Amino acid sequence: MEDIMEKILLVDDERSILESCRQMLAMKDFEVRMSENLSAARKELLTFPFDLVITDMRLGADSGEDVLREVREHYPQTGVIVMTGYVDIQNAVQCMRDGADDYLPKPFEIQDFYNTVEKYFERRRLKNEVANLKEDVSLFRLALAVTELKPLSGLLDSVLELIIKETDSDSASLALLDEEISELEVKLSRGECLSRPPVGSRIKLGEGICGYVAKKREPVFLNRNDESRNVAPGHFQLFSRHLSQISVPMVVGKKFIGVMEICREKPKKPFTSRNLEKTFILAQISALAISNARVYDKLRELDELKSHFLSIASHELRTPLAAIKGAIDLIEKTPEPANAEKLIAIAKRNALRMMRLVNDILGFSSMERGNFAIHKKKSSLANIVSNSVETVRSKAETRKILITVAGSGELPEVFCDPEAMEQVLGNLLDNAIKYSPEKSEVSIDMNCEGPYLKISVTDKGPGITAQEHKRIFERFYQIDRSLSRETGGIGLGLSIVKKIVELHNGEISVVSSPEQGKKGSRFTVKIPIEEAGTMSPCKHSRENSLA
Ligand code: ADP
Repeated sequence: MEDIMEKILLVDDERSILESCRQMLAMKDFEVRMSENLSAARKELLTFPFDLVITDMRLGADSGEDVLREVREHYPQTGVIVMTGYVDIQNAVQCMRDGADDYLPKPFEIQDFYNTVEKYFERRRLKNEVANLKEDVSLFRLALAVTELKPLSGLLDSVLELIIKETDSDSASLALLDEEISELEVKLSRGECLSRPPVGSRIKLGEGICGYVAKKREPVFLNRNDESRNVAPGHFQLFSRHLSQISVPMVVGKKFIGVMEICREKPKKPFTSRNLEKTFILAQISALAISNARVYDKLRELDELKSHFLSIASHELRTPLAAIKGAIDLIEKTPEPANAEKLIAIAKRNALRMMRLVNDILGFSSMERGNFAIHKKKSSLANIVSNSVETVRSKAETRKILITVAGSGELPEVFCDPEAMEQVLGNLLDNAIKYSPEKSEVSIDMNCEGPYLKISVTDKGPGITAQEHKRIFERFYQIDRSLSRETGGIGLGLSIVKKIVELHNGEISVVSSPEQGKKGSRFTVKIPIEEAGTMSPCKHSRENSLA
């Protein structure tokens, strides 16, 4: 980018002067264009951004002042030197007042011509350096502002506002990588830019300019008026309205975070390579700020989780504990056997409820600490199922719920952690019983699908709407807290189930559509039958459908 030739437009109605000036400038490696009048100059000015315009004061019907006005009004970054004969010195003074950078009295020596042009470029270089220094200071200020620890939601807004201000852009957007699906999502957009997908849209890696930047981790810089300055593979084109666009990758260390894009629409000010450099730096500072904000959000979430957990756990443990204590107190006071039996049953039920809560809490906390190890071995599914059914039998009997099992006799041994799988099935059955109406049926179905084993637990409960299907697997999530409170539970069971299933390289899904008037839910766990690498398809296969 450094060795791009500086571009000069010469405007003079005398062809011979134009030609000799052109030759002098070409010898100094300038790129030169020539115009003989104002309208030709206007056309040239539209073709690409000139660094300097050298115009004669007299241009037949037009004047150098018109050229100066045109440049000052529409191309503020372009310099103007006015050439003038002695008689026009007053006009030259006026031109300087009107914004010309210098003037050159005619006739001039070659050396005078060179000196004036070089003086202009030297001043311009110094001006740019001062501007760059100022920019560096503002970059530093920006770095301080965006790297302040704050939540991601507020941060993205302030990042985009600062980018627009610092790069004098008309619009800007941020697309962040969704690591789970390796796609970009447009998170925020400011200003109008026709080529930009709207907020919320997803972009595949490699798709369009944004996807290209994400895939290659390279910036794209497009200028409609001056393709020589473009930094982009040739096939990208700008929307006709846009003057220039910069798209840069955002990276922290080696981690790609997203893509930042800025656009300018105004014809007078295309982006420069300095803008590209600055945007690149801004993008990296912003990437760091975003990754800090994510850590901050995570810490806040954990803090909230801790308080939530303590309040739920203490409340949920107190309720069954109070019931147990009440039952024991009554047994002490009225030791008649008929009553005692009932009271012991109450104490037992509540002790079981407490046990389940404590198990959930212990399971959850070891998973959070990453200490939840599973020990896989060839295991009989029939045993796992019958042990799980045993743990919920008394609860099912109390609610007069019939548990049916189908398919276990035909199945091969499964490579899994039997205790963990009992926990999975126990949790699913416990929920199925908890949320089903009395005197209904909960069925367990097992069958093979290729190298996988599928176990389903189906109930006739109220069902779970589609929008809750994903959320119920989140920790502490409960659709109706009051219902869970009655039945016991703190919203950890399914998150533990999901984790265990994933540790078995399996999947869990739910089929339920109460919104279509259908009752019941079916939870299906799918795990590989064999150890990874030794998988062979199951010989027995049977399909089930939700009644
Ligand atoms: P909980 O301890 O509250 O049962 P879970 O993590 O096991 O927690 O389940 C999360 C939520 O999912 C429950 O609070 C309940 O709202 C819903 N849910 C789970 N299983 C069922 C089911 N079989 N029928 C209806 N809702 C269910």
